Amino acid sequence: MLAPAGVRQASATRCALGPGPSAHVRDVRSACSTSGREIPIFLGVTRPIYMDDHSTTRCDPRVVEAMLPFFTEEFGNAASRSHAYGWRAEEAVEGARAEVAKLLSARSNKEIVFTSGATESDNLAIKGAARLAREERKGDHVVTCKTEHKAVIDTCRRLEREGFRVTWLDVDGEGRIDLDALRAAIDDRTVLVSLMLANNEVGTVHPIADVGAITRERGVLFHCDAVQGAGRMAFDVEAMHVDLASVSAHKIYGPKGVGALYVRRRDPRVRLVAEMDGGGHERGMRSGTLNVPAVVGFGVAAQIMREEGPGEAERVRALRNRLRERLFAELEELKLNGADDPWRHPGNLNVSFAYVEGEALMMALKDVVAVSSGSACTSASLEPSYVLRAMGVSEDMAHASLRFGLGRFTTEAEVDRVADQVVRKVKRLREMSPLWQMREEGVDPRWLGGS
Ligand code: PLP
Repeated sequence: MLAPAGVRQASATRCALGPGPSAHVRDVRSACSTSGREIPIFLGVTRPIYMDDHSTTRCDPRVVEAMLPFFTEEFGNAASRSHAYGWRAEEAVEGARAEVAKLLSARSNKEIVFTSGATESDNLAIKGAARLAREERKGDHVVTCKTEHKAVIDTCRRLEREGFRVTWLDVDGEGRIDLDALRAAIDDRTVLVSLMLANNEVGTVHPIADVGAITRERGVLFHCDAVQGAGRMAFDVEAMHVDLASVSAHKIYGPKGVGALYVRRRDPRVRLVAEMDGGGHERGMRSGTLNVPAVVGFGVAAQIMREEGPGEAERVRALRNRLRERLFAELEELKLNGADDPWRHPGNLNVSFAYVEGEALMMALKDVVAVSSGSACTSASLEPSYVLRAMGVSEDMAHASLRFGLGRFTTEAEVDRVADQVVRKVKRLREMSPLWQMREEGVDPRWLGGS
């Protein structure tokens, strides 16, 4: 797909913002037109280096360019069957559907259902499959894991309130599940297993092919939240026997507010109870007029990820390792959270800095680097990360953790600058810490404690 008529007309359309733009428009404009790697000024304020790609990614300029005509000239409703405006929008949507299907190695484009994002995809997959199974008296038990994203955890909790039984698998110190525990958890009431590809906090990758082999053999459906991993590591719904898979455009350099659910159509044919009633769009699984510009952007983002993802992953992995090596060489008492390669997301570095308060570290670094102290969805709360806690990390060490998310637009110069600053700030915070003083004197009251 790509270069639909839209791409060719994009440059003409880009000028349509008009004279005398507001500060907001000016800012959007500079973001759109910057093909380089840095946008240092935002409303006149110097911004920190962005290393939070698990939370969201910057839209690739090629994606923005492809989207623009679909706000203006190509404004049709993809569901309008009676005129050229609708046909053109539908054609663009189907092109995007084909690209998302290829990214996941789906057998048919019809297996892709567009949604508003992965939260919706996770809800539709899990509630949709579980509720249908119960309606058809096939079972009422779901298996998932304690370190899944909240979009899966809270959906499963909702099912528990509706009377479903949920088994919450434990993880080891690196965030890995035990396949024997998975086998043991599946019983004759089990209808669905939901396990993610790569963890959004610690980057640990689950052995999806092994999980798929187990679920296939036991005749239960397998949903995989592939949001963080798709395009960055091997993921093939056919080869791995995945029946349902969630993806989101804004995690792969596409726009926010659009995602997809892969729904297998053969061997077995998966059916779901829809979350929304309405016009019957997306083959009845997700009613609602499609956001055509966003869908088009998703398609281009998926295409770029499929073509460039493997090479990009190696480049990003090297940068991530450079950051890791510098931090571990220049600072003592650090702990890497999560698994090692090849079972780690290439752009993820999650480190606990002992003897430093996480909040103080975040404050010290806020002008230097944009990172997260956990999942973007939970960092607003002061609770230690439930993912780190499930891995047996102590409360203090969980609070003292930072998640660096490197990606397509990260440069070596940025890595070096972030490493310099993190080392400097951590050393300074420790100099002021009475606990660090005690440790220097050979006493350790707190930080060496276990979970
Ligand atoms: N699943 C995972 C693993 C995620 O990291 C996220 C976002 O952080 C989501 C689901 C939710 O995605 P969305 O923002 O598209 O709703």
